Amino acid sequence: MGKALIIGAGGVSNVVVHKCCQNPDIFEEICIASRTKSKCDAIKDSLKDVKTKVFTAEVNADNTHELVDLINVFRPDIIINVALPYQDLTIMDACLITGVHYLDTANYEPPDIPKFEYKWQWAYKERFEKAGLTAILGSGFDPGVTGVFCAYALKHHFDEIYQIDIIDANAGDHGHHFATNFNPEINIREITANGKYWEGGNWVEISPLSMKNAYDLPQIGLKDIYMLYHEELESLALNITGIKKIRFWMTFSQKYLMHLTVLQNVGMTSIKPIKFEGIEIQPLHFLKAVLPDPASLGPRTKGKTNIGCLMQGTKSGRPKNYYIYNVCVHEETYAEVGSQAISYTTGVPAMIGAKLLLEGKWKIPGVHNVEEFDPDPFMEELTKQGLPWHEDFTPALID
Ligand code: NDP
Repeated sequence: MGKALIIGAGGVSNVVVHKCCQNPDIFEEICIASRTKSKCDAIKDSLKDVKTKVFTAEVNADNTHELVDLINVFRPDIIINVALPYQDLTIMDACLITGVHYLDTANYEPPDIPKFEYKWQWAYKERFEKAGLTAILGSGFDPGVTGVFCAYALKHHFDEIYQIDIIDANAGDHGHHFATNFNPEINIREITANGKYWEGGNWVEISPLSMKNAYDLPQIGLKDIYMLYHEELESLALNITGIKKIRFWMTFSQKYLMHLTVLQNVGMTSIKPIKFEGIEIQPLHFLKAVLPDPASLGPRTKGKTNIGCLMQGTKSGRPKNYYIYNVCVHEETYAEVGSQAISYTTGVPAMIGAKLLLEGKWKIPGVHNVEEFDPDPFMEELTKQGLPWHEDFTPALID
């Protein structure tokens, strides 16, 4: 049916590539392109008996001209951007120049401002509309599946949702003293930023990790959860009609928090450049270089993730509560595609979004967040492609 250019060759890309190859009728040809071509080749070499034709290429996605040259050679129908958020705009520019659809899993961020805002990408809406091209933003798990869960709940279970609590739990253990499950730089920027939630039409800002609660998560058990800002809150606060309060919670172990606190206290998480032995370096870049590569955690990680949305609202005039979640097992995802569950829960929805676009089910010219599309075909695909979901109509609530 089509050709996909997959940009980036990290943990998430590995999953996207394997999952595209499991759907060869849709993805007839793919090209894995990244800054370090040997990583693209390593992913290609890990594939066994696939029908999809797989190519690899080197590209610096910060450079629109390089991207345009590659696109003109490979002629893809869609670009699946699983590089870093810094490359979103150059890739969107290249899509507009060459007439190619676009999908990503994380919103654009300028390298020097950790803001996690959609405004830069939403500004492309009219240009994509005029070009008849679709850009799907944030088709990972969170953002991604969490937005689809909310759209699905609104379509089938509620007339109005007034509160959403997104709960992201990782009870996996990789055996390292300290490591992040996806790109360390993006992960640490997210966690060390101020927390923020939406209430009564306003954003309420709190200092990092200063709001704590506990939740008994199905198949995982009781965990401490911490409120933080996450990018899907911005689009969901706009797109879910009637919403009054929306928060995002994540689990962290005491060991993780202790290491993070020390690293912060000694200045290692700072993105402000410093001079070191005559060279200008960003402490966080240096820290990333010494931390384990998330793509290497696959064989060591054991345990489960549970990510879901807890919702409160009304149906036919009556109050209603609803919890929808997915549980993913690290060892199982590693056995299937050679990656841990965090990369898996991001890469599978990226492939699904691209599949639906190529099939014409999620093809609406413009720039859209996932909750703006029909959730039903995506929910069906989740179950078929390895991320089944579960529902609870009498969940415990969070204060
Ligand atoms: P990794 O760091 O493992 O991989 C990133 C890849 O992008 C690397 O191969 C890197 O190349 C490549 N890259 C970086 N800069 C460039 C560039 N200028 N040109 C070309 N390639 C480049 O990250 P992950 O795979 O863990 O994460 C990928 C994306 O997924 C990130 O944007 C992350 O924020 C997002 N994500 C989204 C989640 C969600 O649920 N929505 C959850 C987890 C992640 P090199 O190896 O040469 O550095």
